[in-house]
Amino acid sequence: MELDKLNEKQKQAVITTDGALLILAGAGSGKTRVITNKIAYLIEEKNVNPYNILAITFTNKAAKEMQSRVEDLIGIDSKRVWISTFHAFCTRILRYEASHILYENNFTIYDTQDKQVLIKNCMDILGYDKETLNIASVASEISRAKDSMVSVDDYEAEATSDYRNSKIARVYRLYQEELKKNNAMDFDDLIYNCIRLFKLHKEVLGKYQDKFEYIMVDEYQDTNYSQYLLIKMLSQKHKNICVVGDDDQSIYGWRGADIRNILEFEKDFENVIQIKLEQNYRSTSNIINAAGTVIKNNEGRKDKKIWTSSDNGDKITIYEATSENDESLYVAQNIRKLTEQGYKYSDFAVLYRANALSRKYEEAFMKYKIPYKIFGGLKFYDRMEIKDILAYLRLIDNKNDDVSLKRIINVPKRGIGAKTVEKLEQYAREHSISMLDSIEYISQIIGAGKAQESIKKFAVMIGALKAFAKILPVSELLEKVISSTNYENSLIEEKTPESQSRLENINELKSVIQEFERTSEDKSLSDFLQNATLSTDMDEDDKKSNYATLMTIHSAKGLEFPVVFIVAAEENIFPSSRSVLDESKLEEERRLCYVAITRAKEKLFITRAKSRLLYGKTNCNLSSRFISEIDKDLVINEKKEYYVDEDSKQAYSLHQKYIEKYKIMNEHKKDEPQDIKIGTKVSHKTFGKGMIVGKTGGKYSIVFDKVGVKTIDTSVVKLEILS
Ligand code: ATP
Ligand code: MG
Repeated sequence: MELDKLNEKQKQAVITTDGALLILAGAGSGKTRVITNKIAYLIEEKNVNPYNILAITFTNKAAKEMQSRVEDLIGIDSKRVWISTFHAFCTRILRYEASHILYENNFTIYDTQDKQVLIKNCMDILGYDKETLNIASVASEISRAKDSMVSVDDYEAEATSDYRNSKIARVYRLYQEELKKNNAMDFDDLIYNCIRLFKLHKEVLGKYQDKFEYIMVDEYQDTNYSQYLLIKMLSQKHKNICVVGDDDQSIYGWRGADIRNILEFEKDFENVIQIKLEQNYRSTSNIINAAGTVIKNNEGRKDKKIWTSSDNGDKITIYEATSENDESLYVAQNIRKLTEQGYKYSDFAVLYRANALSRKYEEAFMKYKIPYKIFGGLKFYDRMEIKDILAYLRLIDNKNDDVSLKRIINVPKRGIGAKTVEKLEQYAREHSISMLDSIEYISQIIGAGKAQESIKKFAVMIGALKAFAKILPVSELLEKVISSTNYENSLIEEKTPESQSRLENINELKSVIQEFERTSEDKSLSDFLQNATLSTDMDEDDKKSNYATLMTIHSAKGLEFPVVFIVAAEENIFPSSRSVLDESKLEEERRLCYVAITRAKEKLFITRAKSRLLYGKTNCNLSSRFISEIDKDLVINEKKEYYVDEDSKQAYSLHQKYIEKYKIMNEHKKDEPQDIKIGTKVSHKTFGKGMIVGKTGGKYSIVFDKVGVKTIDTSVVKLEILS
């Protein structure tokens, strides 16, 4: 225990164990630290059985970190505390209780990609094409329904009058039926079904209510409705619930997180005690003040005091680069410089708004030989070869998983064509059996021929692998899968650089499985597959390694680094173009900026480029409004040092061209913007006729008849008013 290492408020938060407790506090004030210490305190001082404690975190990485922190504090007992994400928690419960909701407990978890495949499949069956309904938007609509606990029946009832929604309702119904048939759940189902289970079976709920005497939730501001409901249900008996969060860091509104969960906690639970933490232990005072001057531009937030006893520290460096090349070289050069002064690579993080921005910094890091690791982008488990191998393993584990079967029945190629697979699927559907089981009747389905032989062989192979699965550990089963499917050999024969990297990934999978067997309590195949599907690249535990981190701001939540670079701080990128005309989205972007700034402990750099090549187009974006919101006294604007290497020279000359363009734009800028009412019909010299639908300052968003929505700055281009 380290109660004496906490300040008074934190101590109070730790020892207030009974009842509902809300800790609403700014970044870096020790919220997460309070949860960790509270777990230790409950076990050591209050003699609570670790088995009766539940702690929910936002990412697997955070869960692992918390587990190891608690282990440092109290030792081996920590293993018995349930510390996990919402998804992992619900999966664990559903594995025990699946039969109550008529699932088998080896159910497969479908990731986003599997989900889309199955939705497309359902749309095919219903005869809806991609033009009628967009798969991604159906997928997110179904997610949204489940997040708000809207069942298929409810959805259908509400959708009757709406043509599009009634179609989605039919997809939703079929999709759920198919999932059930495949003995599979998607991510949203994990929480949705867990709540359904609790609602339908009070005795099951009662069991877990009894078990979890103490419940703690980190990052509570980012919970959605279903997660809130789950916590509420579970805490009904003992009513010992502690949530911590920061309304200023709510950044998942776009995914259904509801900031009201934290703001209305006091209404949702009885006799809530609120404790505020006001001392920041993470950052220098300049960094905290900078974050404060930005976030105060948001309206309707609870004002929080935050102070630090640390020094002012360095000022925030703002660098205005000529181009994205210049910007990324600046970042790399500064990292080089600072490592020469004693910083480690792992002290640095480069944070950006969107994954697509990462490439330039990677290139610069390679050039400057800075070891780095990039988080996000294509996950390891999303790679084709890994998904293929996992599909084999899933089918072996769960014979009803038709989505996996379809993925690999002809991979590597075995001469089983799409038509044959279609017939097999149809037969399975008509007879309500799995596709794998329907192979038994293959001679009836497709008649004699080469395909029939191949399919039979396939079924025999899967049968044999299933038998192996019963007796072999997962690592040896994997070897059997790789050899009997001929997957590895077919890659070896391919001899392309790509096949080489696929082979490397498969080898990496072997080490992932070995690691799993070494560290996991439950070593079953189901458990391995669950880990693989719920994990993200963020989860790897690599405290020992020394590399710079590249990640989106979203994934940096809860983390901290001595030196942070916030890059591409430009209008239309950060804040994103989708948010600049929508006040509530803009506020979420500003919270994102607050999260980004508060990750830094000692040094903060914010960079932007005057011209940037992104998504195949070169744009000249204005400096992010968030830069100008930072108090001028807190920043130094760094002048361009002319770099001597070729790349920077090129970047510089490219920039000269843009300066010209800017001059022209700026001359126009002297004009007064027009003042036009929303709803007015206007004409634009390039885009033609349209109607004004939104306005901020002199900028208008206009729906043009021919080209859709565009933003027009009337201080640069004049509009002709039609009516
Ligand atoms: P965020 O809002 O970003 O999640 P947080 O409120 O959860 O931040 P923590 O991550 O718990 O904050 O703490 C921030 C840093 O301050 C950590 O490095 C933590 O170890 C340190 N810290 C917290 N409290 C104290 C304390 N009383 N004494 C010394 N260091 C502390
Ligand atoms: Mg935290």
